[in-house]
Amino acid sequence: MRLTDEILKSKYGVIERALKIGREAQAQCASAFSQIEETTEFNQLKVLEAFRQCRLAPNHFSPSYGYGYSDAGREKLEELFALVFNAPKAIVRPQIASGTHALALTLYGLLGRGDKLIYASGRPYDTLEEIIGASEESKGSLKELGVEFEAIPCENGLEYELIGQICAEQKPALVAFQRSRGYALRPSLCCGQLKKAFEIVRAASPESIIMVDNCYGEFVEECEPIELGADIIAGSLIKNPGGGLAPTGGYIAGRADLIERIGYRLTSPGIGLEVGSYAASYLPFFQGLFLAPHVVGQALKGAVFASNVYSRLGYRVSPLPGEKRGCIIQSLGFNTAQELIAFCQDVQRVSPVESHVLPEPWDMPGYQDQVIMAAGAFIQGASIELSADAPIRPPYTAYMQGGLVWEQVKAAVLKHISGLKAD
Ligand SMILES: *Cc1c(COP(=O)(O)O)cnc(C)c1O
Repeated sequence: MRLTDEILKSKYGVIERALKIGREAQAQCASAFSQIEETTEFNQLKVLEAFRQCRLAPNHFSPSYGYGYSDAGREKLEELFALVFNAPKAIVRPQIASGTHALALTLYGLLGRGDKLIYASGRPYDTLEEIIGASEESKGSLKELGVEFEAIPCENGLEYELIGQICAEQKPALVAFQRSRGYALRPSLCCGQLKKAFEIVRAASPESIIMVDNCYGEFVEECEPIELGADIIAGSLIKNPGGGLAPTGGYIAGRADLIERIGYRLTSPGIGLEVGSYAASYLPFFQGLFLAPHVVGQALKGAVFASNVYSRLGYRVSPLPGEKRGCIIQSLGFNTAQELIAFCQDVQRVSPVESHVLPEPWDMPGYQDQVIMAAGAFIQGASIELSADAPIRPPYTAYMQGGLVWEQVKAAVLKHISGLKAD
């Protein structure tokens, strides 16, 4: 017996049957893994090239204080992100608290009274609902400011014709696309689909700003949304582009005039992006971006492996093991709330941090259902590290994502299936 199997059995409670399923699944993942490696190599070289081009040097790792005028680290980091995402300009800041904050800054920076906001990829990610003004109690929402909202259904993918028709009729100020599926049971959007949709929006309403919520999508394919025709993208640094090392933050990249406006929203009119210090040094942001393509590859391998294992066992998985992916999220459909909770708890047990803590469902701010979150992560809430979360509502679907190293994902999955009743 392999020494590794011995450890999985004795330390992780993995049973013989699970080891066998794991071996078969891994063998069947070979071609998907080699495709992932190809994308990783491409994106890794793209990122490396951006580092070379912007001449990063140790002085960019110096901390800064106070206003942070001409902070060399901050300016270099923003230059680097702009290069990587092929955008004229970028904002990359630890002061942006999360992906939701980056998206909110973008929307509040670009929209005003009387404007129309269209979500072309269905209803947005849960935390965006309050920003848009889903309920009457939403305070400070876009709705309160007089921004009208409409979502175009996307259960079966983008409705190109309807998108074109609505954009032609309404000339919305901003049309948004969410690359990842988030907590919805729809496929993530791949580059080809985004490109086609952007062309349709452009033709129907040339003035509309095209925005992409890029969370979870970075480095999954060889293209990024700005290259496909989007005007502006936003995302989180404790997801893909932080590479697991960025300790906090968000980014926005895109057209220079839009970035300037968003900068006025971030700090204040007149000041914009000229201030912002960071005494802790931008080193982990640089290092994280450098590692990001590789780490995303690890997360994708873990997702493909889990998809293969659970589909073998008859569970509803999405994407399917061989299906094209536009984001790192893997959904696993369980039969009951109990099964779902057990999965999240096993993910937590096979984590480097707080493996001794048992996650329970709770009322998380910004979400409308109770949510269970497993994340034994170094960075609190980092979902580029192995994490699993689920709103507790039928059809009991766990969303698994991340994994700095795919071996951890494998161990968690094998442990969990060892506890399932054999049929
Ligand atoms: C995670 C996520 C967000 C919100 O990001 P937070 O950092 O959790 O605030 C928004 N949209 C999508 C698609 C996401 O995956």
